Amino acid sequence: MLLIWGYRTRVLQLAMVTFLCGRCGNPAAHALRKAVMKFTLFFIPLFPINVKYTTQCTFCGATNRLTKEQALQAEAQGASQQPAMQQPPVQYEPQVAQQPPNHS
Ligand SMILES: [Zn+2]
Repeated sequence: MLLIWGYRTRVLQLAMVTFLCGRCGNPAAHALRKAVMKFTLFFIPLFPINVKYTTQCTFCGATNRLTKEQALQAEAQGASQQPAMQQPPVQYEPQVAQQPPNHS
């Protein structure tokens, strides 16, 4: 029986994160990507072998490898950036302590 096996890499874009690029020095948007390499058998992806996180500067195109921790941190940062730009700043009203009037 002939076993047909191989690898397949799927690339997902997780978020757009803005930070200072280490190569061009611009505060540019960076695409945070996750590349998952999977072992395939008869062209069916079975299990992931390798997961890679990278960022790519949209200004100069430089790519950087990230650790999983760095990627998760960057993703959280990117996720928190977007709503902050769309929503007006939250206004906090001063809380007035309700005290019963003292008639004694
Ligand atoms: Zn750059």
